[in-house]
Amino acid sequence: MIGPHVQRLLMESKDEFMIDGEKIASVMDTNPLSHALLVLSKVRYSKIPVVDKEDHFVGLIGLAEIVDEMFDLTRIDSENLNGKFVKDAMETGIPTLPLDFKLEDLLHILVDHSFIPVVDEENHFLGIYTRREVLKAVNRLAHQLEVHNVIVPKEELTEIEEKLKIS
Ligand code: AMP
Repeated sequence: MIGPHVQRLLMESKDEFMIDGEKIASVMDTNPLSHALLVLSKVRYSKIPVVDKEDHFVGLIGLAEIVDEMFDLTRIDSENLNGKFVKDAMETGIPTLPLDFKLEDLLHILVDHSFIPVVDEENHFLGIYTRREVLKAVNRLAHQLEVHNVIVPKEELTEIEEKLKIS
């Protein structure tokens, strides 16, 4: 369990964790795979979110999945993308979080994922929480915690209490 003080200090930066959907490069599941390749090469991210036509979050598409689709037995050929769509190659079953996420869930998921899609109750895509933004808050916490607080290990506190009782 994350203690209440660390919880409070980290959650002070909660509003900075999310990058709004409007600022996110994404593709639609019905887009040709060649379009996703173009977007990924332009934005230079290795993975981006995929949405459907009602703006539901449906998966992630990355360069690795697209390159896989370009392979044939002997070589890589971009012609192999012809007739293929994002939904044929995207990763599904991606963990998502709501706006009112639990800090524990956020930190656990970010261990294995560099970003987490944020969705509403109907799974509409709202944005992403990135490891980078959360690490900035952890960095701030690591620098500030002992500047503004006195941290005493519990065993030392017990010793101090015992000494106070004796005197
Ligand atoms: P960062 O922590 O900023 O490096 O972002 C981590 C990952 O989140 C990136 O590698 C991308 O896969 C994704 N990401 C971050 N910002 C964007 C964006 N504006 N559009 C699409 N994906 C993004």
